[in-house]
Amino acid sequence: MVASEMHPFAKTGGLADVVGALPRALATLGHTVDVVLPRYRGVAAGETASPLAVRLGAVMVETMTSEVADGPTRVILVDHPPSFDREFLYGPSSGDYEDNAARFALLARAALAWAARQGQRYDVVHGHDWQAGLVPVLLATEHADDVQLGHLPTVFTIHNLAYQGIFDASWAERLGLHPRALGTDAMEYWGRLSFLKGGIAFSRVITTVSPRYAAEIQTPEFGFGFEGVLTGRADDLVGILNGIDYDQWNPAVDPYLPKPFDAARLDDKAASKRALLVAAGLSPTQDALARPLVGIVSRLVAQKGFDLLATLGDDLGALDATFVVLGRGEAAFETFWRDLAAAHPDRVAVRIGFDEGLAHLIEGGADIFLMPSRFEPCGLNQMYSLRYGTVPVVRATGGLYDTVEPYNPATGSGNGFVFEDYTAEALVRTLRHALRIYRESSAWRRLQLAGMTRDCSWEASAREYVRVYERAAGGRTGA
Ligand code: ADP
Repeated sequence: MVASEMHPFAKTGGLADVVGALPRALATLGHTVDVVLPRYRGVAAGETASPLAVRLGAVMVETMTSEVADGPTRVILVDHPPSFDREFLYGPSSGDYEDNAARFALLARAALAWAARQGQRYDVVHGHDWQAGLVPVLLATEHADDVQLGHLPTVFTIHNLAYQGIFDASWAERLGLHPRALGTDAMEYWGRLSFLKGGIAFSRVITTVSPRYAAEIQTPEFGFGFEGVLTGRADDLVGILNGIDYDQWNPAVDPYLPKPFDAARLDDKAASKRALLVAAGLSPTQDALARPLVGIVSRLVAQKGFDLLATLGDDLGALDATFVVLGRGEAAFETFWRDLAAAHPDRVAVRIGFDEGLAHLIEGGADIFLMPSRFEPCGLNQMYSLRYGTVPVVRATGGLYDTVEPYNPATGSGNGFVFEDYTAEALVRTLRHALRIYRESSAWRRLQLAGMTRDCSWEASAREYVRVYERAAGGRTGA
């Protein structure tokens, strides 16, 4: 695998969780996975191998690699400090680094140079998102006739179609891309170059992270201009729901929770609610403990529904609920939540930042998890919420649609609350419904237990990936 993020080495979002967990799940099924990842600032180097010389256009770049183990997975860190020893993975919030095309071309070329140096051939190469988009491109063009790398089957996963790795056409020469990589059936995208389009065009099988999202991205509403490209590959496009890492996300053993709980000890979840209120700077009064607590852990961007929440303004503050929000992102949304917290210091708390411990405590201590995304390829937090007995309120899109089953008052079935229309009214109506049902303790308990017993493990997903690898390899893979 080649990726730009992998938990616990480097993470900005769900991609890291997937690349952290899928190789382990594949190992359990008897497969061996090596992951190539940039060595960003703060990532400790492992055992150093001899340097690799990598060509970027007219320039030869010497890069080091080192190896570390992550459980059964071998992780190869591409160590080129001018490219990767920086404050951010992709750039500050004001914009991406200007040389991202070169940084991730370096990752792709270094990964292939490293693979070529190994004694054995790989069965399949799996690239994740645009940052690894050049891997299938390079394999199908400049490496097509190599003994070691030629005809390696490729699988490419789209974790989020909104990020397309689009760069000025002049990068073609600076990166030394093969003419065949540049056509309209390849990386060319409205006069520019897209690493994502290259990954899609040159991979044998394309996957994305939920069945619903696989269908959605073939429509203009969700396709971001790629719907034509994807419809053209519809037969090779497969949606596989992400699992969640049950070692990391398990309320029965979670070290970030004050007291473990599970479906058999659900009353002990109250200790997490109290701890969360305290951690958020809210008093854990009887009132506060009885009032439903709505948690949010998210990138604060429009994709996640923060534009809808912002239009609700003080309607949120008027709800009979406590809000604890953790996230960072667009300044306007950060300001909205800061202002709301200032207006309701006893019931709204916001922490701007990235804080893994607090994320776990929110999943453990909240009653409701709110995820009103405009689009959501898979989404992990709603699955963590299900596991932690925190009832999700979500919009019916992508992986949210595939994992959250709407509560049916007539039968009591379901594991959460779902709204269809991307409007503030639909959101607030559904949130109000959830807040009402919260007061019906036996219905609520049933919702919690339905979520906690849903299988969100990686095992089933990993088996589906194996089938995809076998398909890409024409049946050659096998443990
Ligand atoms: P996306 O990848 O689009 O950001 P996902 O729901 O798939 O959304 O995954 C987000 C992951 O990042 C989850 O593991 C979530 O807990 C984590 N996360 C997001 N924001 C924060 C934050 N501010 N602090 C801690 N963890 C966060």
